[in-house]
Amino acid sequence: MIQYKGQSSISRSDEERIDPAAQSEDMPTPVPSSLPHAAAAFAASLARFVASGFKTVDGPLHELRMGHCRACEFLRGSQCSLCRCLVAKKAWLPHEDCPVGRWESYPRAEQGGK
Ligand code: SF4
Repeated sequence: MIQYKGQSSISRSDEERIDPAAQSEDMPTPVPSSLPHAAAAFAASLARFVASGFKTVDGPLHELRMGHCRACEFLRGSQCSLCRCLVAKKAWLPHEDCPVGRWESYPRAEQGGK
C-alpha cells in the first residue's frame, strides 16, 4: 500500500492523469512502499491469486493497464517504483490496482477474472 503525505487517497482530473506536469502543486507526493510492506503485500496478493483459482484479467485489459505503466513516470525498468511490483505480472491480477489510480477499475462482480 502506498502512503501519502497528509492524506490516504487522491483525486485527480483526467488531464492530470494523462499529463503529470499538469498535477497540482497541492497534490500529495506518493511515497514508495517499504520493502517489508511490499513483501507482505506480495504474499497477500499471491494468496488471493491462489484462492481465486489462478484467475487473471483478459488480454485487452492487461494491455490497457500496461499502456498506463509504460507511460508512467514511476516505472523503473519492469518495476513500479511505488508498489515495487513487476507490473507485467501484477497487471494480470483482477484484484490488484495501480497505487495512484491509473488503471481502469475491474468490475467488482468479475474480480475473479476469467
Ligand atoms: S502501477 Fe501505476 S504507478 Fe506503478 S508504474 Fe503502473 S501506472 Fe505507474
